[in-house]
Amino acid sequence: MKITEKVCTKNQCYQVGKAFTPKGLMLHSVGCNQPSAEVFAAQFNNYQPNGQQICVHGVIDANNGDIIQLLPWTMRGWHGGGTSNDTHIGVEMCEPACIKYTQGATFTCSDLSTARKNCETAYNSAVELFAYLCKKFGFNPLADGVIVSHCEGHKRGIASNHGDPEHLWRGLGMSYSMDGFRRDVAAAMGVTAADKPADTAKYYVQVGAFASKANAEAYVAEVKKKYPDAFIKII
Ligand SMILES: [Zn+2]
Repeated sequence: MKITEKVCTKNQCYQVGKAFTPKGLMLHSVGCNQPSAEVFAAQFNNYQPNGQQICVHGVIDANNGDIIQLLPWTMRGWHGGGTSNDTHIGVEMCEPACIKYTQGATFTCSDLSTARKNCETAYNSAVELFAYLCKKFGFNPLADGVIVSHCEGHKRGIASNHGDPEHLWRGLGMSYSMDGFRRDVAAAMGVTAADKPADTAKYYVQVGAFASKANAEAYVAEVKKKYPDAFIKII
């Protein structure tokens, strides 16, 4: 993973320079056919690029997976709209040059294999970066609300109404999902399901395993005399 710092000192967001304590990470996709992180780095280093108040913490190149950091991780960004800016670090993945947006999140693609390769490159780099940031800030990637997409942020009522990055994955027929992304980040960190926080984990107590259903039923009937919640689980 290669991270280059090109802090956007000319962006109004940087000039406001509000410190914040990150509670999670939000994954974005740029929503236009520009694979180069360098282009965005230059664009974001404006007072207000395209007249919009916008600045993300990092952007990932879709050609080589290189990451450019645009804001200090502990400076409040302008990326998600809503309250997510107060809680989440925002990272954009660049998108293939060979797609063309037609309306909203809908696009056509002139070179599917290249587009998928670009998408995969940015995804893999995002997994590495999110694993690095989770370790840096002590986040559990599998805990609820820690890693979210912009799209999920909107559903949770903490971000503006965008469909990224799931719209890109769907449009290119990728097998990616945010649940899969969180699992991939966890795997990159060496975190397993057993490390889930106690409020979501379930610890099963097994007291027997039987090849015969009748024997299992007889046994669970005995156990139920003392522990009425006992049940049979077939695995
Ligand atoms: Zn977004």
